Amino acid sequence: MPTHHQVVIIGGGNAGISVAAKLLLKNKQLDIAIIDPADKHYYQPAWTLVGSGVFDIKKTERNEADVMPNGVKWIKQKVTGLTPETNKVQLDNREELSYDYLVVAPGIQINWQEIKGLKETLGKNNVCSNYSFEHAPYTFECFKNFKGGKAIFHNPQTPVKCGGAPHKIMYMAADYFRRHGLLDKADIQYWSGAAKLFSVPKYEKTLLKVCERADIKLNFMVQLVEIDGPGKKAKFIGIGDTNKDKEFWVEFDMIHVTPPQSAPDFIRTSSLANAAGWVDVDKHSLQHVKYANVFSLGDASGLPISKTGAAIRKQAPVVVENLLAAIHHQPLTGKYNGYTSCPLVTGYGKLVLAEFDYDNNPQETFPFDQSKERWSMYQLKKRILPWLYWHKILHGKM
Ligand SMILES: Cc1cc2nc3c(=O)[nH]c(=O)nc-3n(C[C@H](O)[C@H](O)[C@H](O)COP(=O)(O)OP(=O)(O)OC[C@H]3O[C@@H](n4cnc5c(N)ncnc54)[C@H](O)[C@@H]3O)c2cc1C
Repeated sequence: MPTHHQVVIIGGGNAGISVAAKLLLKNKQLDIAIIDPADKHYYQPAWTLVGSGVFDIKKTERNEADVMPNGVKWIKQKVTGLTPETNKVQLDNREELSYDYLVVAPGIQINWQEIKGLKETLGKNNVCSNYSFEHAPYTFECFKNFKGGKAIFHNPQTPVKCGGAPHKIMYMAADYFRRHGLLDKADIQYWSGAAKLFSVPKYEKTLLKVCERADIKLNFMVQLVEIDGPGKKAKFIGIGDTNKDKEFWVEFDMIHVTPPQSAPDFIRTSSLANAAGWVDVDKHSLQHVKYANVFSLGDASGLPISKTGAAIRKQAPVVVENLLAAIHHQPLTGKYNGYTSCPLVTGYGKLVLAEFDYDNNPQETFPFDQSKERWSMYQLKKRILPWLYWHKILHGKM
């Protein structure tokens, strides 16, 4: 096996596959290797719909081999270390690869173990999470098991993939309970490590109305530290100025947990990381601030935006343009403006399509007010976006 490649991409997820496919559409002579140990590739944005009982989990999974672009060398290993000073990556089979250019896209690391008792009880005792392929279907079981009482929805204090996902599932639950005549018996509560519900006021206004109509109680600046599944209670501690270190044991009849997340350990401990552990790239060129032959995009990058596949759709062309410019010793002209999007399902058949940039300015695609709940945008999420993902985005055509 050659141990040197012109372009090495770490991670064959949404970001890594998109970049490889786009590079090859520009120049099929490029020598590109993708390193990824996974057997399967997932379309994670549909997991909210899986948890709501309206999307088949099997349709969110493909063989990794089937999404690898033709012409890419797939190295089915895990990266364990990085030495960008000498243009090398270390693999878990103890081999080492060198590169001319590196694209770092290993996604985000899920840290289930940071909540005491969670691993033991997840998938039982009405403790659910849409943040894994294995567990997303159980969320809908919890909707069906619910006969009234307290339904808790949690959002951690760390960055997460898709900042809207921890509360989108709450709006779906509220609508499900309403449709089954249970809303009056439901005490729905949101417990979040953030200071507000959503960062962009235009969309937050609609979401606050959705909360009001289901009488959802909002609690901010709290951290979930422990779950007692059989005892049906969860322990939060305050992290805000007014509630710092206060302890709250909250009883529940069901709880949806969003696990704490971070950059992968091998990034955090490398010289590619910024102070918070993410890959330290320029927020416009996506080039590493210290190593000119390294680029990063997707959830592992240190870009100050919410981590979404929608953001990757706008980042991938910039990485491709700038990486090709670097290969040809040209100035880097590709510029990413921080575009990200969150399709916020607010009920069955209702969706607010939030789209915005680094400055939280709306960057809307459609010629109507996207802060309104719409059936058409729900169909976009449920039917059109999954098709575009498998048939266009992963082929570098969007
Ligand atoms: C519940 C949920 C709802 C979401 N909803 C939306 C939504 O509505 N809209 C939206 O746009 N986005 C949504 N997202 C977010 C979206 O799925 C992610 O932002 C996107 O998948 C990130 O792509 P990525 O390539 O950075 O990471 P991933 O797609 O997660 O891929 C990372 C890849 O890197 C590999 N890898 C990891 N570690 C290593 C290593 N050490 N060595 C080599 N390879 C490694 C992994 O095996 C994986 O294949 C949602 C996510 C979840 C979980």
